[in-house]
Amino acid sequence: MKTNRIVRLDAGTASKIAAGEVVEKPAMVVKELVENAIDAGASEILVSISKGGKRLIRVTDNGSGINKEDLPLVFERHATSKIRTIEDLYSVVSLGFRGEALASISAVSNIELITMQEADESGIKVEASGGKILKTTPVGAVRGTSISVKDLFFNTPARLKFLKSDQAETRAITELISVLAISHPEVSFKYVVDDHRQFDTPGKDKLDQAIYSIYEPELMKHLVGVDAQDGGMTLRGYISKYGYTKGTRAHQFVFVNGRYVKSDLIRDVIQMAYKPYLMHNRYPVCFLFMDIKADYIDVNIHPAKTEIKFHDEGAVKQLIYIGLKKAFNLYNQTPEVTFS
Ligand code: ADP
Ligand code: MG
Repeated sequence: MKTNRIVRLDAGTASKIAAGEVVEKPAMVVKELVENAIDAGASEILVSISKGGKRLIRVTDNGSGINKEDLPLVFERHATSKIRTIEDLYSVVSLGFRGEALASISAVSNIELITMQEADESGIKVEASGGKILKTTPVGAVRGTSISVKDLFFNTPARLKFLKSDQAETRAITELISVLAISHPEVSFKYVVDDHRQFDTPGKDKLDQAIYSIYEPELMKHLVGVDAQDGGMTLRGYISKYGYTKGTRAHQFVFVNGRYVKSDLIRDVIQMAYKPYLMHNRYPVCFLFMDIKADYIDVNIHPAKTEIKFHDEGAVKQLIYIGLKKAFNLYNQTPEVTFS
């Protein structure tokens, strides 16, 4: 059999391949940009998208801004302000640290970045295409950073072809922004889709206010508070009262140690606690935050993924079951289910 010779890929091809691992779809771009804004200490974040994020994703924050002298590095791979050595990884508190997101995003889009730090006299605008800085100009600005990602995957047509419809990509972004806004009620999120305002959370560190702003205002009336502790674990948040359910799980949010997870185990316990009252294919609404010692969960699972593994599944089931039962009892609606 004839084999091809080994060649080194040119830098452009290599960076497009690497980019594909970090950003597969518009929602992943939004996630990286918003996490950078949170890392920059922003208290207000505006996310604006157009055509499912394919035409435009703009994230504007009032965070620290980027030092002008660092701008030549901003789209470079493995360039970060968040760690210095491998040891720093063990104490890192920021959401990012790999220094890969902006490099990846810029490799496959046209970017306009405007930033200004507190002490700066003016802002600065950087325009880049395919990862190369084209132009840097001074502009009027306020403290913070605004990154506009245009024409995502313009230079990787194969990937562009795999994107879903504008509607489906928008839905994925909306779910992501909802998760971020709910898990960071201390940050005010404004979310705009194709020039239409979707929601606006107040950023007053109140979960109920964030939920109220994101969903139809009546939703809060149908929720009861959850607050339980067991075996060094805590559970708090809200779940819908009996009788208030949805046709999908799109309104079920579970966070473990602050991280959004989709856990079959937790979903099953929720259904179990509700069972006698549930119609077929109906799901309660919930916003549950569980805190558990880090060594009780499997940390070997990729941070970007939503799966989670618990070492003691029985204890987790017990906590959630007891927590929900206690919440329902407060409303005199004892679920008649035995835990097995
Ligand atoms: P990482 O977040 O892993 O450090 P990124 O590629 O996401 O890598 O960002 C590179 C660097 O650019 C960050 O370390 C940070 O210094 C700076 N940066 C990116 N976005 C922002 C922002 N919104 N505000 C302030 N600095 C930012
Ligand atoms: Mg980052």
